[in-house]
Amino acid sequence: MSDAPQRSQPTLSLHDSQRRATVPFEPINPEHVTVYYCGPTVYDLAHIGNLRAMLTADVLVRLLRHLYPRVTFVRNITDVDDKITARARANGEDIATLTQRTTQEFHADLAALGVLPPDIEPRATHNIGEMQAMIARLIDNGHAYEAEGHVLFSVGSFAAYGALSGRNPDELEAGARVEVAPYKKAAGDFVLWKPSDADQPGWDSPWGRGRPGWHIECSAMSHRYLGDSFDIHGGGSDLLFPHHENERAQSLCCFPGGRFANYWVHNAMLLVDGEKMSKSLGNFLTIRDVLAQAPAEALRLLLLGAQYRSTLNYTQAGLAEARRTLDRFYRALEAGGVTDAASAAPTDVPMPSGVLEALADDLNTPKAIAELHALADAALAGSHEAAVALRQGAGLMGLLRASPGEWFRGAASEGDDVIDALIAERLAARKARDFARADALRDELQAKGIILEDTREGTSWRRA
Ligand SMILES: [Zn+2]
Repeated sequence: MSDAPQRSQPTLSLHDSQRRATVPFEPINPEHVTVYYCGPTVYDLAHIGNLRAMLTADVLVRLLRHLYPRVTFVRNITDVDDKITARARANGEDIATLTQRTTQEFHADLAALGVLPPDIEPRATHNIGEMQAMIARLIDNGHAYEAEGHVLFSVGSFAAYGALSGRNPDELEAGARVEVAPYKKAAGDFVLWKPSDADQPGWDSPWGRGRPGWHIECSAMSHRYLGDSFDIHGGGSDLLFPHHENERAQSLCCFPGGRFANYWVHNAMLLVDGEKMSKSLGNFLTIRDVLAQAPAEALRLLLLGAQYRSTLNYTQAGLAEARRTLDRFYRALEAGGVTDAASAAPTDVPMPSGVLEALADDLNTPKAIAELHALADAALAGSHEAAVALRQGAGLMGLLRASPGEWFRGAASEGDDVIDALIAERLAARKARDFARADALRDELQAKGIILEDTREGTSWRRA
């Protein structure tokens, strides 16, 4: 039975993109597991596609922390990028203001979703020296060359190029025929450093004033904090090529004694109503768009409803169902006499083995959620033990953190930032003269126990 506690730990297996197989995870040092994830490029609100990678990382790191005594999780912030420069210009604000605001919004969104912060969150602009040192070394050892103010990585200099993504460099070259920059020796060569105009962000370097290419950022930051070899590198499957292939090439050529990442974990993409999310299709959803419609925890549960390597289809119906499932789980906690928030729960409760085994099997979250349902059945029938196990197992996925009372009172457990986001959304709807939407948001806030006061100075709010 799934609620039987088990003290021996299951073996974690993960699907490694490079081995193209699900394999047992063997850390370099079992006393200290190391994980790197590519973080956001901060120029706009995060969308729910971004969130899937962050949530996969969150469940993985929570599980690793349960299985190993120490885990260091590094997730960077990309705060220099041409998209940032373009957006700052379009907004008429300076780059630092844009990146700081967007970073804060990203942190607030993830906090609302219960995503734990990384142990180290390096910013690219604070690591330019490390990037320059790597680039200089790559030039010295013949893996990079300077041309017209650019420094390029020579793909042909690295025999194992393509081994991670499984792409053949010859195909790559044929595919990249369009608009090959004249300073490149080969079409697949990619930028490590590029020159900056006076109105672009730039740093002095041996190759002139310029800025780094995107790929070198992660190589430099992972090396600085995790060394030549670390355990797990993760991100969305859209990063596998070229970003991760290029990171790997740079790092292995720069530090040939190391292995860079031992395991590569890639989550599949997210669809909205069966289609790829895009601004042009009008189905582009930021995290805040969804948080305006449902409790953050419902979005979290919905996204964990598919195993991370399966395509996930986001729908309104799915969101509503996730909410009903949470109603059921919180009712089960209550029926089993667990009425506190997770923060007040005892920490020495054994992890239900069914949940733990499901997650240890390449993060099989749907199976783990099925285990929660089984525990909920028993708790609804009055089992206190099952309710305690439900709370504990759910916690491993960052679920059921509120008390049942908080959940049923409506988002009393949601932070002020969620309320602020809803109010900002309502204001935007009013400005756009979408009064039906604005009213719906007011009703939703009211249902959460939030009373709005519109004054000439703006909208203030208080909890009822
Ligand atoms: Zn990266």
